[in-house]
Amino acid sequence: MDFPHPVEERITLASLTTLEVGGPARYLARCGNARELVDTLAVARDRGLGIFLLGGGSNLLAADRGFDGLVVRITDETLAFEPAADKVLVRAGAGVGWDRLVARTVAAGLGGLECLSGIPGRVGAAPIQNIGAYGQEVSETIVAVRTIELATGKARSLTADECGFGYRHSRFKSRWRDRDAVVGVDFLLERRCRGAVRYPDLRRRFEGREAPRLTEVREAVLEIRRGKSMMLDPADPNRRSAGSFFVNPTVTPEAAREVRERLEPSGGRMPAYPAAGGGVKLAAAWLIERAGFHRGYRLGQAAISTHHALALVNTGGATAAEIVALASRIRRGVRDACGVVLEPEPIFLGFDAAIDELLD
Ligand code: NAP
Repeated sequence: MDFPHPVEERITLASLTTLEVGGPARYLARCGNARELVDTLAVARDRGLGIFLLGGGSNLLAADRGFDGLVVRITDETLAFEPAADKVLVRAGAGVGWDRLVARTVAAGLGGLECLSGIPGRVGAAPIQNIGAYGQEVSETIVAVRTIELATGKARSLTADECGFGYRHSRFKSRWRDRDAVVGVDFLLERRCRGAVRYPDLRRRFEGREAPRLTEVREAVLEIRRGKSMMLDPADPNRRSAGSFFVNPTVTPEAAREVRERLEPSGGRMPAYPAAGGGVKLAAAWLIERAGFHRGYRLGQAAISTHHALALVNTGGATAAEIVALASRIRRGVRDACGVVLEPEPIFLGFDAAIDELLD
């Protein structure tokens, strides 16, 4: 059985990921709509190929040996705005650039996504880990996630409730892992011209001012992110990264107390925030620095960003093995110094061992 559309062969994953590491993918198919996707998946099944869904490649660590299967990129950039009572329904194809969506909604005077400005990647990836920043999470505005089941081609439209969203989490990461391709997401946004200001980083920007406009909040978020090298800027030496490499950990109140007692005497006040379910959210970057890993710390060509302890960067020519070695060293160091086990945020592709084994 042949692919219904031309596919590329032996494309280096380094060229498709923001970390710029990773060996070749056997095939790369770009699918512009659900029909193309269903037909392509049928061929992959027929040939017994493993399938990997690629978004913007901004949250991905690909192995040096590459991926001996089919990488699928959904390129549907459809974007439609439909009035829905006093709100607006925004329907976006999975291939729409995330920040393009945010820019368009902010310019249209629609609130709900403004704090998520500057996040790299594409719409299709947003619900998978429920992206969030500065007090907003994408799950707050999602009304439907449209999917195609990889094994059967079956189309579904899932409500936010069904997706089981949590902190950087959804059922797409657990129960439904590798089951579906997200082909589109529908958002319900408010018509309002004032932006959300919830976090201190933003509050400081608007000190003494009431309710800044959506566009001002967007600009402020972009500026803060730029200052932390959390934007894809070709001129930034920290640019080759996958953003935050570790998830900010949520622990029990007792565990948080223990970490505080252990670290505060020498490290200043520990940031800690209430999390859903009675847990306490800790700041991974703070723990990493307390464990002795300073910004700019290097291991071969892999390093910690000079602007943010949570981002691992490829300083130029790094291998995936070097990134893994650095991540492993940091994870062990934080576990020993702080008693907290950090979980990586990016998806690992093409490795022959489980993540816990790789990072141990
Ligand atoms: P940051 O602003 O230095 O915050 C570090 C940690 O403190 C995060 O866990 C953050 O929670 C928490 N925090 C800070 N102020 C808080 C408040 N007022 N209430 C509750 N929690 C608070 O983090 P950063 O690394 O520079 O990142 C900036 C923002 O981008 C953060 O919101 C971060 O989560 C987000 N981000 C998201 C992704 C993603 O979605 N994959 C990747 C990178 C960064 P929250 O994490 O809940 O905000």
